[in-house]
Amino acid sequence: MIYRKLGNTGIEVSEVGLGGENVTKSSYEITKGIVDVMDEGGMNIIDAFMPQPEVRSHFGKALDGRRDRFVIQGHIGSILKNGQYFRTRVVRDSEEYIADFLNRFRTDYIDVGVMHYIDLPEDFDLVFNSDFITYVLGLKKNGVIRAVGASSHNPLTAKMLAETGVVDVILFSINPAFDMMPVDTTVGEYNSSFKDISFRIDPRRIDFYETCRRLGVGITVMKTFAAGRLLSAASSPFGAALTPHQCIRYALDQPAVASALVGARTPEEMRESLRYEEIPDEEKDYRAVIEKAGDSLSRKCMYCNHCLPCPKKIDVAEVTKFADLFSENGDSETLRAHYAALSAHGSDCIGCGACEKRCPFSVPVRRNMARAKSLFGF
Ligand code: SF4
Ligand code: SF4
Repeated sequence: MIYRKLGNTGIEVSEVGLGGENVTKSSYEITKGIVDVMDEGGMNIIDAFMPQPEVRSHFGKALDGRRDRFVIQGHIGSILKNGQYFRTRVVRDSEEYIADFLNRFRTDYIDVGVMHYIDLPEDFDLVFNSDFITYVLGLKKNGVIRAVGASSHNPLTAKMLAETGVVDVILFSINPAFDMMPVDTTVGEYNSSFKDISFRIDPRRIDFYETCRRLGVGITVMKTFAAGRLLSAASSPFGAALTPHQCIRYALDQPAVASALVGARTPEEMRESLRYEEIPDEEKDYRAVIEKAGDSLSRKCMYCNHCLPCPKKIDVAEVTKFADLFSENGDSETLRAHYAALSAHGSDCIGCGACEKRCPFSVPVRRNMARAKSLFGF
């Protein structure tokens, strides 16, 4: 196992770690089996955000006698209320939760105390202008936590967290799809806008990663597989599945990243992720999948008309849009009527290629004009 420095904390973590979410409802035997596999392979970091008490008891029992070989990320602000997950900034609730956490984990310290889920600027203000941050810094001063962490899905807020000077570690969602999605996508929107990616890493995300590297803030990664959706061709926005090892490699390639946390429902799944350190580099290379998909998307028309003027006065965006609608949804009278109403059509194209030189997305306009002519007949 290869270990990396967790920012400036002085803690070293395995490149691949466990995000505990998938064992929330697992038996003690399953949890122990996963911890055994981790221990055998030298995998040492566990993120435990889950507010359900049983899972912490299972981990505590499984770690008994080997607690010091593991790095625990425990969350501050994720609690159970009326049987349901609840996010809180109330110090009294958090005190109760942390006392319970230590008791169930059979330990007297948490390696990284993660201020849970700070995405919105208003929440950032609430955390840093209340007794919540005083409480968290007090935990560090008293040795209950060794490092202050925070979790976020928003690179702008995460950058603000890194720049506070008091946050040592940020748990952040990184995978190739999220990196290419609109930067202000919220966690609840990931599902519906998962396909809405630009095939270009948002520079604001890179800025956050670079800021962490410059300031010595360590990043641990959640959503390494995008909740499994990158592992299936049907749900991957790249049109092809990535392997777990390619996703792990992608996360580890980003600046300041110390560990990619992965889910495991069984010891076998944990063992499969551990194979990351054994397989050849070529099998971890994700670039071919992303670049291939990026190429096909970058050659799709965005209907912006940056390619005009056209000597034949063709409205390239409109002609292409109608051809795309025909290809995607089939023929219709309305579509034909709209196409016919245009002043120039695919058949008017003389193939001069001037438009293609101006198109910022390398769209094969001449081919699209020929396609429109073939579909509509003119
Ligand atoms: S061909 Fe290019 S420039 Fe023209 S409308 Fe499409 S994307 Fe825009
Ligand atoms: S190639 Fe066709 S669509 Fe493009 S500028 Fe020339 S005539 Fe117009």
